Amino acid sequence: MTEHILIAIAWPYANAEIHVGNITGSHLPGDIVARYHRLKGDNVLMVSGTDSHGTPVTLAADKEGKPVEEVYKKYHDGFIELFEGYGITYDLFTTTHTENHFKVSQAMFLALKENGFLFTQSSMQWYSPSAKRFLPDRYVEGTCYICGFEGARSDQCDKCGNVLEPEKLLNPRSKAGGALELRETEHFYLDLSKLEPDVKKFLQERADHLRDTVLGESLRKIESEGLKPRPITRDLDWGIPVPVEGWTEAGKCIYVWFEAVIGYLSAAIEWSRLGLGKEAWREWWVSPSARQFYFIGKDNIFFHTSLWPAQLMGAGVQFLKIFAEDEKPLTLPYDVPANQFMNLEGQKISGSRNWAVWGRDALTRYDPDALRYYLTVNMPEMKDSDWDWAEFVARNNNELVATWGNLANRVLAFCYKNWEGRVPSVDVGTLRPADLDLLAAIESGFDTVGAELEAVRLRSALGEAMKLATAVNQYLDINAPWTAIKTDRDAASKTIYTALKAIDSLKVLFAPFLPFTCERLHTFLGYESPLFGEQYTETVKDSLGEHRVLRYRPVTLPAPVPPRPGPPVPAPHRPAFGAGQVQADGTGQAQVSGATSGSAVEGYWKPSKLKPGVKLNQPAPLFKKLEESVIEKERARLGK
Ligand SMILES: [Zn+2]
Repeated sequence: MTEHILIAIAWPYANAEIHVGNITGSHLPGDIVARYHRLKGDNVLMVSGTDSHGTPVTLAADKEGKPVEEVYKKYHDGFIELFEGYGITYDLFTTTHTENHFKVSQAMFLALKENGFLFTQSSMQWYSPSAKRFLPDRYVEGTCYICGFEGARSDQCDKCGNVLEPEKLLNPRSKAGGALELRETEHFYLDLSKLEPDVKKFLQERADHLRDTVLGESLRKIESEGLKPRPITRDLDWGIPVPVEGWTEAGKCIYVWFEAVIGYLSAAIEWSRLGLGKEAWREWWVSPSARQFYFIGKDNIFFHTSLWPAQLMGAGVQFLKIFAEDEKPLTLPYDVPANQFMNLEGQKISGSRNWAVWGRDALTRYDPDALRYYLTVNMPEMKDSDWDWAEFVARNNNELVATWGNLANRVLAFCYKNWEGRVPSVDVGTLRPADLDLLAAIESGFDTVGAELEAVRLRSALGEAMKLATAVNQYLDINAPWTAIKTDRDAASKTIYTALKAIDSLKVLFAPFLPFTCERLHTFLGYESPLFGEQYTETVKDSLGEHRVLRYRPVTLPAPVPPRPGPPVPAPHRPAFGAGQVQADGTGQAQVSGATSGSAVEGYWKPSKLKPGVKLNQPAPLFKKLEESVIEKERARLGK
């Protein structure tokens, strides 16, 4: 059954580069699950974008002495480059600073207001008489009134971890300089206490598949502490204006925590309007059968499991009524497989101390699949993990290169040389029991690896695939085609045919994790059409200016493409393949579609159908062995 799967990934803040901890925390697991569902033939929509608002961004701009817009775009462009480099295949990676996101967020705000879930309340906030404005929480630092830490932010203490009441901060000082005074200000609050029963029910209904670490930060937290009202507006000059008369004029903006999560919905709408169908987003957002997966780090669990569902349930049918003159509720999250954190060489990753492996920098020295492999086998799924350079080299050399890469390369190279560049022409009815046993074991991998991927247990899924590669190596050790070819060419042909079929299947099982090398292997095996579609960027104009987006053009079977309204589709990065040729599995060929429909018509997630006699392409090694000297060189970069 073909499903609609929404892959929603945490929006990176536009105030810092992305490091390996961020990649393994959310972007990579989301991409792996998206690619798996695309291979299965499901309709995947994978979205995220740059969180361009909020005080971390304005603080970064102040520090660099540049306009906020310039600063957010600098980080945004860097994120897009990184995702292209690692093959993180967003159907749309956009930003929160778009006209569309403003409209969707304001509609959500108004829906909650009309449904009676918002109230206003006055509170005291720090004000700068010299700047004539209220200062956001992060602009004010002082001494924590709970633990005495002198560098506490006015809203939160990083030492004791407590949320602070800004007006109680001791010895407050402004980061922008100048005197401070407390003044009264009015804000909108989301009445979460009213929504608490709904949120609890929502979590209880999903308790069988939510990770225990996630339930601990959501259901159990609510059961012990309850849900309290939270402010959803701020006095800010960079953000989305509060859509209420008098409030826009007073310079009040929607609080960034409230609007950034709305990005999962607004990005789907933007994607839909850039593509074929203006209303296509409804398949993932107004359909009870669609499944939504949210990939985030543990620091974001509460926002995605409790606050975001509360916003969606509170808005009810009112959001669509305001936004699209329709009356249906929005789809709620299905799973929130939040990851724990990745440390580095035994210490917490710290950007300010440069104790980090930066995503783009690592790509200048290592291949993306080598990095993706290590980040998956070491993914902090249930507890914090550690990036260790010695382990990175060992796992690359002993597992990726020795177990999988060498297997594929030596079988293909041996076959290419000894069978005139073709799959051996064996009579498949004469395969021996050992051949059939191996193929049956590999075939069962589509169920075992698939089940782990369905449940978002990605380390285990990759481990299962690697076990099957080991089984193929053992089969080759026993049947030794390299020597058999001298005495019994027929036996060697059967062994090589069987091994090639196994490798052809393993290529699909490994593809969600190692897309670049599996795509190369796919062409070595004689396929003309790609496993996956391709990434490209586009510039979108609106009333706020323009923003770059990263997109994905999926693989679909050749089909007439209807005339398309809106901006033209850019040319593919690689030449289009000729249509109608017969390829390695004997079928007609799929193509990268000109349409961005988000659906892959044909699923590759099934055992190999590689036919005897098919023409292969000249193979080459898939991975590089790393020198031991890499370890010390990389460790020497840290903390400098
Ligand atoms: Zn404290």
